[in-house]
Amino acid sequence: DPFQGLTPLDSTKLSIEHTTEPKPKPAKEGLIWGATFSDHMLEVDWDDETGWHPPEIVPFHDLELSPAASVLHYGLEAFEGLKAYAAPDGAVLLFRPDLNLARFNASLKRLRMPTFDAAELQALIAELLSVDADWVPRGEGYALYLRPTAISTTPSIGVAPARRVKLYVIASPCGPYYKEGFVPVKLYADTTYTRSWPGGAGYTKTGGNYAPTIFPAAEAQKRGCSQVLWLYGEDDLVTEVGAMNFFALLRDARDPSRLELVTPTLDRRDILAGVTRASVLDLARSWGDCAVSERDVGMRELRDAAREGRLVEAFATGTAAVISPIHAIEYRGEDLVCARGGDGIGPFAQRLWDALRDIQYGRVRHAWSVRA
Ligand code: PMP
Repeated sequence: DPFQGLTPLDSTKLSIEHTTEPKPKPAKEGLIWGATFSDHMLEVDWDDETGWHPPEIVPFHDLELSPAASVLHYGLEAFEGLKAYAAPDGAVLLFRPDLNLARFNASLKRLRMPTFDAAELQALIAELLSVDADWVPRGEGYALYLRPTAISTTPSIGVAPARRVKLYVIASPCGPYYKEGFVPVKLYADTTYTRSWPGGAGYTKTGGNYAPTIFPAAEAQKRGCSQVLWLYGEDDLVTEVGAMNFFALLRDARDPSRLELVTPTLDRRDILAGVTRASVLDLARSWGDCAVSERDVGMRELRDAAREGRLVEAFATGTAAVISPIHAIEYRGEDLVCARGGDGIGPFAQRLWDALRDIQYGRVRHAWSVRA
């Protein structure tokens, strides 16, 4: 452990400075994703001589950084995304935050940046949510999106381990992803650009994974596709959809009564282990009415299934949209169409959606939903 002997993150050292200029709450209907922020933020500095400094909750503010800070040159940063939901009884609920915080640490480790005790950061996030409690919007589809971030503020343009880090958490109220109901999307299965590969950092949520996706996504949009379906290798293995995980519900070629829910395996470490992905797998396995597989999913298999009408449903999963139905995939000049068609969400995805929402909003009791 390169950080042995340094001061650990300690939530009991927290200081809170309340804003003297609270912002007016935005109208819920006009919320634009990721553009509005709550009144406060959590900030904790780290350096390689002391470790974690005392955490602070302070009014939301701009950062001051050296222009040499290595985050600005080499993308030495990692982040997370999770939502706080208002339950019917007014409680603020987090959905499986332990998974997000473990993933945050995995990303930081990959960058040789300092990790932290997840329980301490969760306690600090709970403090931020209590200071900004009235920023958690109420109502179906509304939530306060939390963005934990850690950046190297090291004022040096050397490509070297971070010596100074700032970890912070900002909060953004957000509304339903689908204002007019589900709009199934068409994907472009891109055989030119690769998002991630074995031995890379595709399993981490680090800025360096996202900047190179913007150009291919814009190219896909020019073709009338809303997202890239990212592939890897000579067999055109599916990895992810934009910044979401991929699922398909396939009908067996020999036994049409058999359905299989498939999602690409995490084994190559080229896929982000989505919290929604894990939850979809757990729910589908607990229902037991189809086979559930984490395995290689190649485009040839999807093409054959689509041609034979066996690609029953396809959807992408992530914290922002929860479930995003896919109606077609453009692959090597052919449109692979999902049997369920383009008119909405398939029944299997709908069932997952309902189950996840009921848990996230605390309408059913579940260990995944924890009081902040
Ligand atoms: N893949 C990528 C590349 C992502 O950025 C995200 C969003 N975090 C996901 C998948 C979905 O993960 P989650 O369900 O944890 O939001």
